[in-house]
Amino acid sequence: MTVFDAFGDEFEEVVFFHDPPTGLRAIVAIHSTTLGPALGGTRFYPFATDMDALHDVLRLARGMTYKAAVAGLDLGGGKAVIIGDPKRIKSEELLRAYGRFIDTLGGRYITAEDIGTTRDDMDMLRRETRYVTGVAPELGGSGDPSPVTAYGVFLGLRACAEEAWHEHSLSGRTVAIQGVGKVGYHLVKLLVEAGAKVIAADVDVDAVARAVRDFGVETAEPEKVHAVECDVFAPCAMGAVVRDDTIPELKCRVVAGSANNQLERIEHGEALADAGILYAPDFVINAGGLINVADELLGYDPKRAETAVQGIYRTLREVFRISREQRITTSSAANRFAEERIRKIGRVRLYWVPGGRAWSRIWGR
Ligand code: NAD
Repeated sequence: MTVFDAFGDEFEEVVFFHDPPTGLRAIVAIHSTTLGPALGGTRFYPFATDMDALHDVLRLARGMTYKAAVAGLDLGGGKAVIIGDPKRIKSEELLRAYGRFIDTLGGRYITAEDIGTTRDDMDMLRRETRYVTGVAPELGGSGDPSPVTAYGVFLGLRACAEEAWHEHSLSGRTVAIQGVGKVGYHLVKLLVEAGAKVIAADVDVDAVARAVRDFGVETAEPEKVHAVECDVFAPCAMGAVVRDDTIPELKCRVVAGSANNQLERIEHGEALADAGILYAPDFVINAGGLINVADELLGYDPKRAETAVQGIYRTLREVFRISREQRITTSSAANRFAEERIRKIGRVRLYWVPGGRAWSRIWGR
């Protein structure tokens, strides 16, 4: 196997950064820049091996291409990993070295927060590069994306209601939420305000107590919440919750929530459809955070970001239409939607434009 085989033939660029004095070892994977610069977070994690890190960054970068394309953004897909335990090796020196390396990519890759990195880290990177989002509001950042992600999920649930029950309203519907952390909490609020009944579950008892205290919701055991009788099961904690052992226990009509990678395997999308359960593909319904952070590139405007997030409703309706008409799963329909957009807009971008307007719109400020 050659090193290029490991990347597969889809990736544009994979870059390895090394700064021995700080212990920085990082990989940036740029999957596609057809629609624009590749945006995706930096994951700082003690991967068991360098190959594990490489596989993860490639998989995640590819996912970002699809997420940005479906969200209608002028962005491509990329991701970065820093190999190591952030608690042990993260330092100002390491982050600034990383920031300088990011800067060498000239804006082909724009970073953001992910597991193991924080907003403070993004502020530190900003001292070395402007190709970073999710910085503090004082630096032109958009703040915590979670309320915006929750808003996108809420609108996505309305699209699900239209598809499943031919009605826009969520009033009177029962929604079981797995994980009432940053996104889940805000989702509870929006649902309760819309007249839905919420059943909340979390492994963190304080998080559940907060939801009960603030919104008077019912509760369920975290390991059994997927099996409660409800209209919608909303995974808002970890991934791989839809799998062989949980699907037969689901008693809902819709699975839709913020968690990434909800299906353990792609075939589980088919299993859900066979069980008569409508699935809102995670990378479509949870794109609010990405849409919000992407707005920073134009000079953050919360109103404009909110309007863009409202597109999630229309996109999901379209994904469901494609799924119905082409008799494919909603996940496959979302992938097709993304691939079509990349193909069509990519073709238009073949026209040579003096000065490259679209990019200077972002970097010309
Ligand atoms: P968070 O850590 O604030 O909340 C997750 C909650 O889930 C926590 O309260 C945690 O205790 C709970 N939890 C963990 N394991 C659980 C289990 N087995 N059963 C029940 N609860 C469990 O994270 P978040 O920012 O709210 O993100 C939630 C999910 O949404 C994650 O998968 C994240 O990747 C995804 N997501 C978040 C955003 C965002 O803007 N924050 C954007 C896109 C996707």
